[in-house]
Amino acid sequence: MPEPTDLLSSVFGFSAFRPGQEEIVEAVLAGRNTLAIMPTGGGKSLCFQLPALCRPGVTVVISPLIALMRDQVRALRAVGVEAGALTSGNTEGETEGVFAALDEGRLRILYIAPERLASGATLSLLRRIGCTLIAVDEAHCVSQWGHDFRPDYLRIGELRRALDVPLAAFTATADEETRAEIVTRLFGGEAPLTFLRGFDRPNLRLAFAVKDTPRAQLLSYAATRRGQSGIIYAATRAKTETLAQALAQGGHSACHYHAGMEADERRRVEVRFQQEDGLIVVATVAFGMGIDKPDIRWVAHADLPKSVESYYQEIGRAGRDGAPADTLTLYGPEDIRLRRSQIDESPAPADRHARLNALLGLAEATRCRRQVLLAYFGETSDPCGNCDLCEQPAALFDGTQAVRKALSAILRTGEWFGAGHLIDILTGTATPKVRERGHDQLPTFAAGRDLTKPAWGAVFRQMMGRDLVRPDPERHGALRMTDAARPILRGEQTITLRRDTLQDAPRTVVKALVADEDAPLLSALKAKRRTLAEAQGVPAYIVFPDRTLIEMAERRPATLDQMAQITGVGAKKLESYGAAFLSVITGAEAAPLHPQRLRLAGREAGAVFDRLHAEQLRLARGEHGTEKPLSCSTTTLRKIAESRPSTLAALEDVGGLGPQRMDRFGAAFLAVLREG
Ligand code: ADP
Ligand code: ZN
Repeated sequence: MPEPTDLLSSVFGFSAFRPGQEEIVEAVLAGRNTLAIMPTGGGKSLCFQLPALCRPGVTVVISPLIALMRDQVRALRAVGVEAGALTSGNTEGETEGVFAALDEGRLRILYIAPERLASGATLSLLRRIGCTLIAVDEAHCVSQWGHDFRPDYLRIGELRRALDVPLAAFTATADEETRAEIVTRLFGGEAPLTFLRGFDRPNLRLAFAVKDTPRAQLLSYAATRRGQSGIIYAATRAKTETLAQALAQGGHSACHYHAGMEADERRRVEVRFQQEDGLIVVATVAFGMGIDKPDIRWVAHADLPKSVESYYQEIGRAGRDGAPADTLTLYGPEDIRLRRSQIDESPAPADRHARLNALLGLAEATRCRRQVLLAYFGETSDPCGNCDLCEQPAALFDGTQAVRKALSAILRTGEWFGAGHLIDILTGTATPKVRERGHDQLPTFAAGRDLTKPAWGAVFRQMMGRDLVRPDPERHGALRMTDAARPILRGEQTITLRRDTLQDAPRTVVKALVADEDAPLLSALKAKRRTLAEAQGVPAYIVFPDRTLIEMAERRPATLDQMAQITGVGAKKLESYGAAFLSVITGAEAAPLHPQRLRLAGREAGAVFDRLHAEQLRLARGEHGTEKPLSCSTTTLRKIAESRPSTLAALEDVGGLGPQRMDRFGAAFLAVLREG
């Protein structure tokens, strides 16, 4: 059985496991039933793909979306793994190819769409081809309460029993209920070995900003990230269209996406996003699970998301390759009003108000945002150094008096007015509306002159965010006090607020992916990648993800051996692309390596091969240069370098030398092997 760590580097080109992967791979290899919960981008696929290559037989992967399956099959083929998919999206030729590979026993990983499980033919097919492991991607689709429910997933448990093989389930959704449902439905109630990886995604920068001039804010955000793939989530279909248009006018390549578009139009956007480097998609949350693009460099929210869970899922689409990625969420009082009123019209509003409060707490956080986010998921952490609040701590002040004044203005006007009118009263602005209602006679009139209007705006927004006041839809959004505000009003509790975040909003400093001196090389490598990807009609990241190009630009490999040590450069990709990228780096044609030698690139055996080869040249005409010329085949040299025999007998057993060559080279080769 091949060693997983060997295949990790030779096939996938990774030098180490990501946190959590190794234990999962070991458990799956050992034939245990496993459930792995890892954040998006944690590297779940590898946890079933690697065992699939080490184990005998075929691994069957069940995955909910045809597009995801196709992407994974394509990525596997690019690293030289025999994989195929049976889905309704196949052409006849593709399906025939899969069956041919199965019949010849070549196929190692077979993706099947869940619909296929409904047909009896599938079970007999899986029996016939010798399926030895079932992997279930997005296992939460088996949960009837989640929004990704797929009825066909309910058949997986039955399939597992019928085939009697181990099952490995993967998901990024970790809540208790979903986990319990997975155990019941996929594992027949018998608890699998469960792995729960922490939620943190340290490469994602977190930031929130109050909406000021939202469109301009987003345009400038995109402008500083020109050429990088990004997603902007917006709350309405109309907004996705107008924003995409504004971006296009700003010279960006941008398009919109929402559920109101025709299916094939949506598919076109998905494909473009997948293929192009640097496209911006402005979308509603409908743009989601079907995207499996590891090099999305940023995600922005034009409007406040629905909950912490949706926020986390949506920003989580950025930076799955592990390279730095940026996120920004805009929010304002309008968002709070909108979300609150949506909730009031829904069933179980109390619970949902509480969830919204958690998100608003994150938006108005007064310490490291990641700490607040992780605490929501029950994890503790140190300040992260990679969020807006770590970079520029919030300016805080004791807001107790301000809040009490605001509450008093609200109560004295009968809870019938919105923030605008209340701020006029507090700042002593005698507008006609204020005068008509006699509000200039109230004791609170002008009681808040110590703060500017925008500062009062921030106070009211934070009061809404902390659920001290709620807009009442039946009173056209007039603010009403909640029970949570009483202790402050009565002077039993103090409250700390953030100073108006608009005035001291940090100008976002865009961290470049690489240091200045490496930037030109990175662009040149990207250009090479684009040419190669276009020629083959595949997405750029199939050639190499950003992360690999960044490492190339920083480490600047000078030989194919060094190239083989870059993360993401496995044997197959070294052969396909190594020389092309090396010549970009060195500015010269790469000295070609013999294919047998290339197979050893980046490994110690490569250096041994080179020394054997040198010895062979030296002795080609014997010690004194007088004998009949003799040489060994490169295949033989490679085999010797790989198997490293330590005695003459063992050297002979490698084969390919014969008595004459043993006489000429045997002792010299052994000397090389002993020293190395
Ligand atoms: P998930 O399905 O958990 O969201 P993927 O399986 O798509 O994540 O992996 C995300 C990215 O991380 C992919 O580009 C993958 O190639 C890369 N990756 C996975 N494991 C490793 C590793 N050990 N070292 C480096 N990159 C990895
Ligand atoms: Zn932080």
